[in-house]
Amino acid sequence: MISETFAIPHISTGDIFRANVKGETPLGKEAKGYMDKGELVPDSVTNRMVADRLRQPDAENGFLLDGYPRNVAQAHTLNGMLAMLDETLDTVLHFSVPDDELEARIAKRQSEEGRADDDAAVFQRRMREYRAQTEDLIPFYREVGMLVDVDAVGSIDEVQERVLTACRQASTA
Ligand code: AMP
Repeated sequence: MISETFAIPHISTGDIFRANVKGETPLGKEAKGYMDKGELVPDSVTNRMVADRLRQPDAENGFLLDGYPRNVAQAHTLNGMLAMLDETLDTVLHFSVPDDELEARIAKRQSEEGRADDDAAVFQRRMREYRAQTEDLIPFYREVGMLVDVDAVGSIDEVQERVLTACRQASTA
């Protein structure tokens, strides 16, 4: 929805990894073991992949990053990439959802899509990775005034409206 509204590519590192796993590429083979365990793929692999993607012509007039950065080291690397491209981020969205609600959504997604890493045990591992690494990005981006908190509990329409409001404010600021 964000990608369509602002006519920018949706760059999801998880989607790119999954496409590579499916295609059995060298990158996919490298990433698969980490993904199956619910661990983060090493930064060196992930950063290189994002750097290549951001250099593609369709990202020249903006992009939506989804699932990246996942830790502070990646965020520093992203800052370097953006400086090279003479780009800046407009906003960073922080979706708040209570753990039990997340668990219910993931269980539903697993029954609908069958994603292996939505299995209950792997999901717990992903949550541990989130707490150990990703959560640090909240103060990191809040300190520079980029973070926008989005209450992500509600209907899809309600959450979409909150997201659009946040993005519109950021793109006109
Ligand atoms: P996602 O679809 O964003 O939930 O990502 C699925 C899996 O891909 C994660 O659990 C990680 O194993 C891997 N992955 C996605 N994005 C990243 C990232 N930025 N850094 C490291 N691993 C990632």
